Amino acid sequence: MNYDELLKKARKAMPKGVAKKERFDVPKVKGHVQGNKTVISNFCQLCDIFCRNESHVLKYLQRELASPASLDGPRLVLGRKISSSLINEKIQKYVKEFVLCKECGKPDTKLIEEGGVIYVKCTACGAKYPIKSKI
Ligand SMILES: [Zn+2]
Repeated sequence: MNYDELLKKARKAMPKGVAKKERFDVPKVKGHVQGNKTVISNFCQLCDIFCRNESHVLKYLQRELASPASLDGPRLVLGRKISSSLINEKIQKYVKEFVLCKECGKPDTKLIEEGGVIYVKCTACGAKYPIKSKI
């Protein structure tokens, strides 16, 4: 068996998806409506995965969903009924705008502030660029 064949064999043995180019799958929110409010029970978990400050994500969602929001322990409570699909859409948008590196597409980034400007700094490829939208 030559090297190529070995490689093919190894790829086949891998679980599906691993051989593909690393793509960041944005996790879905776990939300439910409670009275007139919407509760996202895995909010802190999501922020951990994105390595983002909860208050940053909270402010973003508050603005995008035009709804008051507050933290309740690890949960996020939105002040009106909002469908999970809409929240997921906004989370995806957030990730695209603030988490994924525009150069290499990896999520290994952090936000840094310099002279009042927020930059995304990628720890994977070293790219650094300012964020236009203010939160
Ligand atoms: Zn990068």
